Amino acid sequence: MRAGVDLGGTKIEVVVVGEDNQVAGQSRQATPTEGGPPAVVAAMAQGVKEAAAAAGIEPSELSGIGVGSPGEVSDGKVSHARNLPDWDDAFPLAMEVGEAVGAPVAVGNDVGVAVDAEAILGAGRDHHSFLGVWWGTGVGGAVVIEGKRWLGRGAAGEIGHTVIKLGGRRCECGRRGCLEAYAGRGSMERRARKKADKGDKTILFDLMKKHHHTRLTSGIWERALHKGDKVAEKIVDEAIEALGAGIASVVNLLDVEAVVIGGGLGTRFGQKGAERIEGEMGKHLFVPERPPVVRTAALGDLGGAIGASLLAPGREPVATP
Ligand SMILES: [Zn+2]
Repeated sequence: MRAGVDLGGTKIEVVVVGEDNQVAGQSRQATPTEGGPPAVVAAMAQGVKEAAAAAGIEPSELSGIGVGSPGEVSDGKVSHARNLPDWDDAFPLAMEVGEAVGAPVAVGNDVGVAVDAEAILGAGRDHHSFLGVWWGTGVGGAVVIEGKRWLGRGAAGEIGHTVIKLGGRRCECGRRGCLEAYAGRGSMERRARKKADKGDKTILFDLMKKHHHTRLTSGIWERALHKGDKVAEKIVDEAIEALGAGIASVVNLLDVEAVVIGGGLGTRFGQKGAERIEGEMGKHLFVPERPPVVRTAALGDLGGAIGASLLAPGREPVATP
């Protein structure tokens, strides 16, 4: 058996899977908000211990552990993980988790491993080429061409930083007009805050307090839409328009067979959200009579962790279509 760890900004999801990739044990920990990388390593080790116990084994019996991490991943080290506490400098995550757990560890990019999981086991299984768009706090992406993820020189797939409006809104990356500045949940929250400060009526922040969150989670956006909140509707409409333009541009360039939408908001809005994005894409497709199939990620919330487990050292590689 092997483990997969999806290291996110709010939670750490761990699965233990067998050779058939079926989940035998799982656990979820809150991501520490202070204490830097060592605190995160301790929480990951605890998660692996609990998931292994649920699968009826000791962590040291795992053949290997794969980790999907935000930030820049190189050679088992992670740097610039912006959604994790005090994590800018390169930190040897694979080595530290390996020592804490007593099993070999490999680390990959979080969106990349989730898209690999969809390619091998999920919504991308029947497609030779597809674009994965992970719509959450940021907008991540990955491209699968001829059954293999296209890595470029290591940074391919950053659809969130394709420019959809010259001189447009400021992005977290410091540039202007990026897709993420319109569709990332972080930017959407800043926009909502501005509107609320200006006096626009919205229940978004009341819902946030009521549900004891410090951020506007995907669930809160969904609830606000359900209750007909005009500010939420406007911001989500804008995000979907932006996603339609960004995704259609990639399709015009690469002509992929399918688009797989995942991530926190993507999963939360489900098929209905995917259909709305598809509608917006249609306006920009160069060959509109042959659009790509648009689907939601099939592996859901555990996809990132299952994808990470595919990276685990000691696993036989699985052939993709
Ligand atoms: Zn950007």
